[in-house]
Amino acid sequence: MQTVTLNNGVVMPILGFGVFQIPDDETERVVTEAIETGYRLIDTAASYGNEEAVGRAIKAGGVAREDLFITTKLWIQPAGEDATKRAFETSMRRLGLDYLDLYLIHQPFGDYYSEWRAVEDLHRQGLIRAIGVANFYPDRLVDLIDHNEIAPAVNQIETNPFFQRQDYQKQLEELGVQIQSWGPFAEGRNNLFTDPTLTAIAEAHDRSVAQVVLRWLTERGVIAIPKSVRRERMAQNFDIFDFTLTADEMTRIAALDTGASLFFDHRDPTMVHQLGTRRID
Ligand code: NAP
Repeated sequence: MQTVTLNNGVVMPILGFGVFQIPDDETERVVTEAIETGYRLIDTAASYGNEEAVGRAIKAGGVAREDLFITTKLWIQPAGEDATKRAFETSMRRLGLDYLDLYLIHQPFGDYYSEWRAVEDLHRQGLIRAIGVANFYPDRLVDLIDHNEIAPAVNQIETNPFFQRQDYQKQLEELGVQIQSWGPFAEGRNNLFTDPTLTAIAEAHDRSVAQVVLRWLTERGVIAIPKSVRRERMAQNFDIFDFTLTADEMTRIAALDTGASLFFDHRDPTMVHQLGTRRID
């Protein structure tokens, strides 16, 4: 598996498996199959409601803990560092783990400065190997870096052929923050799987559109965590390292960028309020 080295030296697979919107009662089977397929990076979140099932699959999977790379995310907490530490403990109990590979602040809303100081502390204690954020736009990220000791290792953001984040990726590189894609297929929005450009490129390589998208992301150095509940798609999405896109194909894919989210803008006040006031647990 190709890897990336984060700003603190931690090595992370460039391709993993996401479990958003997989119901709790299906997650153990799905994650077990993903591990059997070869995935070692598993991406969950407290807000997905399936950490316990991920934990059961990890335990039953028979792969050594140090060979797995487990990410979970902190949902928005009440102000203060204690709430974050309690939320971390809850996630670890649900996952059945005694250390975590990557912990992400899920949203740039609420008192995320105290959340960050709490995760910095957990990192210093050796309970988390790398700490990062998700859904941070450049202004929020720079501010967080400027006013804290440890810079995030990762920013997990929507990145797909219709919202490519090429300029932001350059900024992140300058800041030493690794870009990670969520929604690599845009969850199929905008007819991604039948897009004519992606389909033509896929046919030229005798591959699927999904494989072309994941190849395009990983060739850019973007970590991808596609989700599928179907074993044959898990295998297909994992099998992307034996072909290469040409410069012309990369240019044709670059032309698909709309520069806008297919989901929502994390700076939209309505969404800031809706997501920011949602509580779990
Ligand atoms: P996604 O991976 O872009 O798309 C998943 C969809 O694509 C599912 O409907 C899946 O259907 C389908 N699919 C998967 N492989 C396919 C293939 N080879 N051919 C055709 N269809 C295929 O969406 P996502 O789950 O939103 O994003 C991936 C991960 O990113 C999540 O699971 C989560 O871990 C993370 N994420 C993070 C955030 C955040 O705020 N930080 C937000 C969203 C997602 P089937 O399952 O039926 O195969």
